[in-house]
Amino acid sequence: MTDKETTQYIISHYGTLFNINEKLAFKHQQSLLKLDDPSGGLSEVQKERRRDLYLRQGWLTNNAEILNLLQNGYEHFELKVASRILTEHKDQVFFNFCPQCAKLARTPQARQCRHCNHDWH
Ligand SMILES: [Zn+2]
Repeated sequence: MTDKETTQYIISHYGTLFNINEKLAFKHQQSLLKLDDPSGGLSEVQKERRRDLYLRQGWLTNNAEILNLLQNGYEHFELKVASRILTEHKDQVFFNFCPQCAKLARTPQARQCRHCNHDWH
């Protein structure tokens, strides 16, 4: 199990290590968010049309195996993916820990700590 910060770090920066179903589930989730975005100002009919379009274009899926990955909620999905990546690709994930406080930086490339502001440029 990974903590939320580690999970976000892996999900945000190691998308290339997602397997094909995880990529599709991720895309599905992002498309749902976009579809339901209240600032989009779409009517229900427009949303319905867009949903069909997304399905045809493969942005949304009806694939049970992929929907299954999301059945316990998106956070749970992220946790599972991060745990799997850590288990199977540990050698490919670089944890950028701050040399001063040893906490995780925001990105693998960061040279400044978001926790203690230490700068190691
Ligand atoms: Zn620090």
